[in-house]
Amino acid sequence: MTGHQKDNTRYIFVTGGVISSLGKGIASASLGRLMISHGLDVAMLKLDPYINVDPGTMNPYQHGEVYVTDDGAETDLDLGHYERFTDRPTSKLSNATTGMVYGAVIEKERRGDYLGGTVQVIPHITDEIKSRVRKLASASGADVVIVEIGGTVGDIEGQPFLEAIRQFALDVGRNRCAYLHLTLVPYIPGAGELKTKPTQHSVRELRAIGIQPDVLICRTDRALTDSTRHKIALFTNVVPEAVVEAADTDNIYEIPLHFRRQNLDGLILERLGLPAGEADLGAWEEMLERGRNLTGEVDIAVVGKYTGLRDSYKSIIEALTHGGLASGVKVNIAWVESTDLESEGGGEKYLGEAGGILVPGGFGERGIEGKVNAARYAREHNIPYFGICLGLQVAAIEAARAAGLAEAYSVEFDVDCPHPVICLMDEQKKVTRMGGTMRLGAYPCVLTPGSRAAQAYGVGEVSERHRHRYELNTEYAEVLAEGGLVVTGASPDGLLPEVVEVPEHPWFVAVQFHPELKSRPLAPHPLFAAFVAAAYATGGRAFSPSERSASKIPS
Ligand code: GLN
Repeated sequence: MTGHQKDNTRYIFVTGGVISSLGKGIASASLGRLMISHGLDVAMLKLDPYINVDPGTMNPYQHGEVYVTDDGAETDLDLGHYERFTDRPTSKLSNATTGMVYGAVIEKERRGDYLGGTVQVIPHITDEIKSRVRKLASASGADVVIVEIGGTVGDIEGQPFLEAIRQFALDVGRNRCAYLHLTLVPYIPGAGELKTKPTQHSVRELRAIGIQPDVLICRTDRALTDSTRHKIALFTNVVPEAVVEAADTDNIYEIPLHFRRQNLDGLILERLGLPAGEADLGAWEEMLERGRNLTGEVDIAVVGKYTGLRDSYKSIIEALTHGGLASGVKVNIAWVESTDLESEGGGEKYLGEAGGILVPGGFGERGIEGKVNAARYAREHNIPYFGICLGLQVAAIEAARAAGLAEAYSVEFDVDCPHPVICLMDEQKKVTRMGGTMRLGAYPCVLTPGSRAAQAYGVGEVSERHRHRYELNTEYAEVLAEGGLVVTGASPDGLLPEVVEVPEHPWFVAVQFHPELKSRPLAPHPLFAAFVAAAYATGGRAFSPSERSASKIPS
């Protein structure tokens, strides 16, 4: 359905050009923060042109982290940026893919909704895309909906999305839409200058399909000169003031301020006919200030399988940084490939200097023994340990083995293992389809009073997000206790263990859920804050970069 909407929501569409990985998600999220700083309520949507229904079935190498919302959607990792920058929860309505869009249209066709008609990309697919944008607008009641389109202009699969956002301005009025385009302005050493041609081409492509960007955000590794800015403006039909620079930065949370300094918020508000009062970025600036004044440093070893691809652990990295902000210390992450911990002496070599050890979520058998070894090394050497999802499961396997069950294992890796300390959840036994069928989304968890987890949270019941098929087998609770591990958090009915701890240890906490997904720079997650604080407090294990031996901790 098209036609003018009665509401007054404004829409900002963010597209990308030239190459991927320019930080479109962070730019969109930063814009979200700026809109909030003007007292506007913001909702964000990512449109992903790939054909998978969601990224849940993709390998992390393909897609990076799968971000999970409270309502159980498996989504693009950019939603994590949205939540961290805007401090607003996302939902199922915040991500749509080609797979979802076509799935919905084909379902309607089979139902007979289009009887007599030929179903086509325009208008049926584009209508479905637009309806997703409107659905988020009406469900959220937001003043401003920011829509990021994945991929780059010119991609075949992106075309229906670009066509849909072009039409959108016709439906709601051009004055209620702003178009932002993110491009790359590379520096070519041989020429000794910044090159604008890729940007010119990218905008030409956008204009060919009928979208004239209002603002260009130019990724560059150095300042845009006035002449570069004017040249880009001339060729792209964008006023020079709206050619905004996005210089490389060490701290992504500085980006809203970079944009603010160039009046990006003012440009957008004017375009949307919204009053441009003073921006209130007070809390944000305080957070940045805290980050500039960290007094200590701690090394945290993150033991994983995709450590070559940092996007796989996006939320973990951010949550550790937030935990550092809460404790006033800089967190250095030492990436450890779990398979490196499987050889003799691997623990000492790769974990010996860590202030804390974190084993994040994961799937599949490769590297699993290395993770079990990481849990053992942490327990035996009193190094603070934080296990997340699979990180809990390996801690349980380790504790059961310590209690004498040498063959303790998970049925994920061996369905017939003699001691299935980690077993398939009952509700999972009948599952035959892989997509969207894990235990997903927010569930409540009741904490044991006095436990480390309860101390960290400061409350008795919490809600955290999940993404797993397997669970701790409660039949082994006593064995685990013999191995030093006790359950300190469970579902309210007591049936599903959610948190385990080693009480006789400086800080050994493992959780079945994914706390990293809810950590935000303005509200660091309590478990990450407590873990970083514990890692720092163990003393003697916090190394300054110069003291750290590069040979022992791979970067
Ligand atoms: N592979 C494990 C499971 O499915 C752990 C999942 C995870 O770490 N996210 O239960």
